[in-house]
Amino acid sequence: MSEPRLPKVQMNLVRPKDPVVGRVVSNELCMNGKSASFVKHLVLDVSDTKLAGTFRAGQSFGVIAPGTDERGKPHKLRLYSIACPTWGEDGVGCLLSTTPKRLIDEYVPQKAVDDPTDHRLFLGVCSNYLCDVTAGDEVLLTGPNGKRFLLPEDPSLHNYLFLATGTGIAPFRGMLMELLENPSKPCTRRIDLVMGTPYTTDLLYDDLFRRLAAAHENFHYHTAISRESGPRGTRVYVDGLINQDMDTFAPLLADSNTLIYVCGLEGMRFGLYKTLANHGFTDGYLNVKAPLADLPPEQWQIADMKPNIKPTARCMLEVY
Ligand SMILES: Cc1cc2nc3c(=O)[nH]c(=O)nc-3n(C[C@H](O)[C@H](O)[C@H](O)COP(=O)(O)OP(=O)(O)OC[C@H]3O[C@@H](n4cnc5c(N)ncnc54)[C@H](O)[C@@H]3O)c2cc1C
Repeated sequence: MSEPRLPKVQMNLVRPKDPVVGRVVSNELCMNGKSASFVKHLVLDVSDTKLAGTFRAGQSFGVIAPGTDERGKPHKLRLYSIACPTWGEDGVGCLLSTTPKRLIDEYVPQKAVDDPTDHRLFLGVCSNYLCDVTAGDEVLLTGPNGKRFLLPEDPSLHNYLFLATGTGIAPFRGMLMELLENPSKPCTRRIDLVMGTPYTTDLLYDDLFRRLAAAHENFHYHTAISRESGPRGTRVYVDGLINQDMDTFAPLLADSNTLIYVCGLEGMRFGLYKTLANHGFTDGYLNVKAPLADLPPEQWQIADMKPNIKPTARCMLEVY
């Protein structure tokens, strides 16, 4: 069994007390069509800052939105996944990118003292700020953050199963470009990406992944569309797609050199745990403790899975 050797990374070079300034280069929708969601591909110039050339694909960075919160304190930083390869959007690590999604909703009362009938428009602070910025704007940044959700030191030793929902695709954009478009050593191992969204129009960077799949026979791009049926939609969640298509995924999961990466909505991992268990693939990916180890996976409840299932080094999670 091959556990990944992860590279050493730089962390917290820029702290919230002393953020650096990144300048917006571009900020464009990266969706597949008109949708109820708004997700951008934001490129920031971090030349001449401590972030230049110091981040790796899979890490995240912090953003401090301008202004103050309801208590009059400066906004706390929010984390955003790096969406570019380690060499940045420019090849030398000076242009950093991410994939902000507007948090737009009706207010849901949070505390007992809240008015239960208050359902005014609720706008997330930092995501809407990031989606609003335009070329030339300055953004306060910190980081880099994260030392576990990384490609291995020698990517050619492994196969990859990348599972994403929504903006969870961000790190995989960077990793896939790094694996497949590395001019000196493109990775020829098997790589599968499963991207889950409610509607086809919510797919992110779809053109890029189709182009990569057409150009590299070792890369397979799958979409799991949960709320529509049609020529490309199959009305399934990410784990459901794997469950349905074991002819495709079983050989990949059975290979002891395969690494699984999961990024996006937290709930996705519980579906994955059950799917792996149902098909006898927990070994190497998950440590399942009693009492779950003795129960059929159909009976596993989320509240029990949280404390009793620990992913191994071959199953990396970044859920938020
Ligand atoms: C490692 C990591 C990587 C991330 N990467 C990305 C990324 O690439 N792209 C991305 O878009 N996000 C990413 N996020 C999430 C991001 O950090 C922010 O949480 C997100 O953008 C929302 O921030 P906000 O300031 O807009 O919302 P906030 O103003 O912070 O509002 C969110 C808060 O409000 C609460 N809330 C949410 N909805 C409602 C509602 N309807 N009524 C009342 N309260 C509500 C939530 O419980 C939450 O506490 C990442 C998070 C982590 C931890």
